[in-house]
Amino acid sequence: MVFENPVIKELLSKVRVLWALRHATSLMAWDTETYMPREGSTERAIASGELSVLSQQLILRPEVIELVEKAEKQEDLNDYEKGVVRVLKRSIKIAKALPPKLVYELAKTSQEAVVVWREARKKNDFNMFKPYLEKIVDLNREAAEYLGYEEHPYDALLDLYEEGLRTRDVDNIFNVLEPGMKKLLDEILSSGAFPREHKLEYIKYDQSAMEKVNLEVLKILGFPLGTRARLDISAHPFTQHMGIKDVRITTRYEGIDFKRTLFSVIHEFGHALYELQIDERLMATPLARGVSLGIHESQSRFWENIIGRSMSFVKAVYPILSKYLDFIKDYDVDDVYTYFNVVKPSLIRVDADEVTYNFHILLRFEIEKNLLTKEIKVEELPEIWSNEMDRLLGVKPKTYSEGVLQDIHWSMGSIGYFPTYTIGNIVAAQIRHHILKDIPDFYEKIEKLEFKEIREYLREKIHKWGSTYEPKELLKRSFGEEINPQYFIDYIKEKYILRKI
Ligand code: MG
Repeated sequence: MVFENPVIKELLSKVRVLWALRHATSLMAWDTETYMPREGSTERAIASGELSVLSQQLILRPEVIELVEKAEKQEDLNDYEKGVVRVLKRSIKIAKALPPKLVYELAKTSQEAVVVWREARKKNDFNMFKPYLEKIVDLNREAAEYLGYEEHPYDALLDLYEEGLRTRDVDNIFNVLEPGMKKLLDEILSSGAFPREHKLEYIKYDQSAMEKVNLEVLKILGFPLGTRARLDISAHPFTQHMGIKDVRITTRYEGIDFKRTLFSVIHEFGHALYELQIDERLMATPLARGVSLGIHESQSRFWENIIGRSMSFVKAVYPILSKYLDFIKDYDVDDVYTYFNVVKPSLIRVDADEVTYNFHILLRFEIEKNLLTKEIKVEELPEIWSNEMDRLLGVKPKTYSEGVLQDIHWSMGSIGYFPTYTIGNIVAAQIRHHILKDIPDFYEKIEKLEFKEIREYLREKIHKWGSTYEPKELLKRSFGEEINPQYFIDYIKEKYILRKI
C-alpha cells in the first residue's frame, strides 16, 4: 500500500472532494475550449469563479488544516505520505496568504484584460492594454508581498508555477544559456546548413488527410486513443487531464505548413503521457498530477523536439507522411528534416525554433523581474521590447502586436509563468543525456518506431511519481543532479553544428 498512516488516510478522504472539484473544473475548462456554444461563456465564467472560491474554502476547512498539522508530526511517513503533506501544506499556504479581495480583483481584472488584450492586439493599440497590464503588475506585486519570499519578490510568483524555483536559479541558468546560445546561433546561421525557411512551409494540406497523419503518429507513439485519451480541435492546442485514465489533447488545422499541427500533437502527447503514466495507486489524491509546469513542459519538449525533430524520427515517419500527403513525393527525407528544423530569429515566441526559443523567454523574464521591482515601467515596455529583441536576436518588431502584445499570459494575470518554458527545454535535453546512457540505442529505437522502452524510462524517472517529490528533488533522485543548462547547449551543438542527430 502507498498510504498506510491512519492520519494520512483520513486526510485523503477529507480532501478527495477537492480532487473531485478539480475533475469537474478540468472538464469544464476542456469543454470551454472545444464544444461549448459561444454564448455559453458568460455563465461558464460565473460558474468557474464560484467554484474557484469554493475550492479555496474547501482547502481552508479547519479540519483539513488540523489534519495536515497532525500529519506533519507523524513519524515514519513514507515518501508518498510526505508528498501529500507537502502538496497540501503548499495549497493551504497559498490559499491563506492571499486575501479573498485580492484573488477576486486579480480574477476580475484578468477576465476583462483578456478581452481588451485580444482587441488591442488586433488593433495594434498598446495604450488600450496598458492600464490593464499596469493593474495586473500591481496586483501581482501585492500578491508577492502576501505570499512572502526570502530574496526577491519575483521568487514568490515563480514558485506558484514551479515549486522551489527562485529568481537566482533562473539568473544562473540564463548566465550560462545566453552567451552559450548566442555563440551557437551565430555559428548556425553563418553555416547555412539549417536555412531560415523551407518551401514546405508554404504548401497547403487537406485537413482530413492531415487528421489521418496525426492519428497514425499518435497511435505509433502509444497514445491510448478512445480508451483513456481523446484528440479534439481547439483554437490553441492544449492538454487537459480529468484523471489518470482520462486525458485529452487538442490541435488545430491551419491548412498550410503541416508541421505546425503535427508538432502540436506530438507536444501535447508528451504532456498527456505524463498524466497517463502516473502510478494508479495515487488516483484521486493530491499527488495524481504532474508536479510542475516546467517538468510538464520537459515532457512535451522531449517528444516534440528531442524525438520529433530528430533525423531518426523523420526517417521513421516519412512513409506515413507520404501515405497521406500527396505533395511529400516531391521532397525527400533530408528535405523534411530541414523543414522540421528551420532556424530563424523571429519575432513571435510560439513560432520560434528550438535554437532561438529561450531568447524569447529571457526577454520576458527580465521584463517581469524588473516590473516587479519597479526598475522599469509598463509604459516603457514597447521600447525595451524592441531594443532587447534587436540585441538578442537581431530582429525588431514593427508593430506592438508582433512585440509586447503577442502573448496572452500577462492578460490572464500570470506573471512568473514564462521561465517554466526554458526549464522544460533544459530538462528535456538533460533527460536526453541520461537516456542515452541507459538506452544507448535510443535513436535506433526511434527509427524503428519502438517507443515502449522510452515510455517506460520516462514513467520510471518522472511520470509515475506524480507530485510526490518537488521538482528539484525529483531531478536529484532520478538523475543524481540539479538542472543544468549546459546539457541544452551540448544538445544544440551536437545537432546543429556537429550534425549528428
Ligand atoms: Mg506545453
